[in-house]
Amino acid sequence: MNIEYEFEPKITINDYIFNRLNQNINEFATIEQLKEGVEKIIQCVPEQIIKIVEKEDWKLIITNKRDLEKQFGIEYKIFGITNFKEKEILVYAQKDPLKFSIIHEFGHIIDNYLNTISSSEDWKHITNVYAKRAVNHRDNFFTNEIPSEFFSDCVLTYCINKELFGEYNMAEIVSIIERIILILPYVKKEDNISASLTESEKLLKAFNEYNQEYIW
Ligand SMILES: [Zn+2]
Repeated sequence: MNIEYEFEPKITINDYIFNRLNQNINEFATIEQLKEGVEKIIQCVPEQIIKIVEKEDWKLIITNKRDLEKQFGIEYKIFGITNFKEKEILVYAQKDPLKFSIIHEFGHIIDNYLNTISSSEDWKHITNVYAKRAVNHRDNFFTNEIPSEFFSDCVLTYCINKELFGEYNMAEIVSIIERIILILPYVKKEDNISASLTESEKLLKAFNEYNQEYIW
């Protein structure tokens, strides 16, 4: 995987050990510690997903030198962002962003690779049935009822907290994600759904793609 680090420690090892500021718990004291954190997350991702991210030539940038909200004109705090225009995933070099954003952003790439499967009627139905109950639990795994965001949240949760689907009675989604993983190596981008779209669906899709140069 193509990973680039833009990292300058913001705390010392002593800051880290004594947790001088509460939020330090989220910071890494050394680049080696950060790299190990990233590797630990990547190891949780099924190989089939990693292969698509690599095949599609995405770069993962782990940074604490940028202001992503400012760079992308976003008015609230984000952990990371997928920039489709540059094929870059940008994630803050902190523990929570690594945990909750890297795989979530991979989810957007898989969604895009499957011709925006999150905009299909089938996934909208799944979102209608399950998203509210998941988001109501107010954890960092399920944060959003927008179908595309819920899709990415499901990919993330599948990779690092699969038990949650059982707790929330969402086992059906585990099967869907599993079938996605199984079929991924055999799917060629854009060869599956387009043919069945109506003209107005194609227009809507083009509009959505235009408006989705980047996505949090
Ligand atoms: Zn997202």
